[in-house]
Amino acid sequence: MYKTASEFQHACSPNCQWNIGNYPDFKMRIRAAIKIEAGTPLTLNRFAYEEFGKFGTLKRQEIHLETFGSPCKCALCLDPTEFGTFQSAIVCSPCRKEARRKGIKDPLLFGYLIPENPLEMDVNQSVWKCTKCHRTSSASNFIPKVNEFYVDRLEDIFINFIQIQRGPNVAINFIRENRGSFVHPNHWLLKRAFKIIRRDRFITGDPGSLSYSELEKMYKMHLALKGILDVTAPGLNLERIYLLPSIGEMIFKLYLKCFNCLAGSSLAEMIEAREWILECRKLYEDCDLYWKGTLPLRDGSRASSVRGSAEELAGCKRALAQLDDHILHASA
Ligand SMILES: [Zn+2]
Ligand SMILES: [Zn+2]
Repeated sequence: MYKTASEFQHACSPNCQWNIGNYPDFKMRIRAAIKIEAGTPLTLNRFAYEEFGKFGTLKRQEIHLETFGSPCKCALCLDPTEFGTFQSAIVCSPCRKEARRKGIKDPLLFGYLIPENPLEMDVNQSVWKCTKCHRTSSASNFIPKVNEFYVDRLEDIFINFIQIQRGPNVAINFIRENRGSFVHPNHWLLKRAFKIIRRDRFITGDPGSLSYSELEKMYKMHLALKGILDVTAPGLNLERIYLLPSIGEMIFKLYLKCFNCLAGSSLAEMIEAREWILECRKLYEDCDLYWKGTLPLRDGSRASSVRGSAEELAGCKRALAQLDDHILHASA
C-alpha cells in the first residue's frame, strides 16, 4: 500500500500524476501535472488513467462506487457537460431533425441531452435535459442502449482476439452510424471505437501504408482525442504520453507523403513543412520530459521507453536540420 499517495484526494481530472517504478522496488513518484495555485488541494487519479479516462461520468461513478463505496464528487463528475467535452451527451432527436431541416450538418451544432444531476446513477430516476430546446428525457430511454453498445459491440471486439480481424471495420461502422445521430462526437463510446481502429492501424500495422486521406482522417481523430485530454487530463500523464507520439508519427508521415521529394518542393511548401516538424518536435519534447521524470531502474539505467522517446526526439531534430538546410539552399 502506498501510504502517502493514499492521502491524496481522488479526482477524475487530477492536478497531479503518479507513476510506479520497476521491480523490485515499485516506488511511486508523484508530480504536479499542471501549475497548481497555493492552497489548492492536490488530487490524483486513483485509477490507471488510461483505463478510467475512457469512460463518461456514469460509468466512472459505477467503478468508483464499486471500489470505494461512494460516488465520486470531483469537479469533472459534478459538471453535466464534463468541462464542456460532452463525453456522455446523447443526441436530442427533435433538435437534430430541426438542424438538418435547416441544412446544418455539423453535429457539434445539434442539441444534446445531458444529465440534470450527474451523480444520479439510477437510470429510472435520472432526468436528462437538452442543451438547446430544454426538452427532458428519462435516462432509461438511452443509457441501456449505451451500455449494450459498449458491452456487445465494442468491448467484445476489444477483448476477444478472434474478432480482431473484423474489429476495425465494426468500429468504423459504429462511428459512422452513431456519431451525431445517437451520441455526441466526443462521446466515450466513440473514443473506445477509435481506440480499436488505432490499435489496429498504429500498433499492429504500419501507418506508412495508409493512404493520404486515411492518414489525414486518423490525424483528425487523434487531434480530437488530444482536445478532450487537454481539458480533462491536462499536463503530462501516461494517457497523453501514449497519444502524443502517434500524433507526431502521423505528422511525420503526412509530411513525408506531402513532400516526397524535398528538393522539388517550393520554398513555401518547405516553410509549411517546417511548421509541422516544429509541432512534431513539441510533442516529442513533452514525451521526453515525461519519461525523464519517471523512476530509473534499480541499477540506475532508464527503461526503454525513455530511450525510445529520446531517439524520436533526435530523429525529429535531424529532420528539422535537414529541412533548414533545404530552405537555406532554396532561398539562396
Ligand atoms: Zn470524478
Ligand atoms: Zn433538443
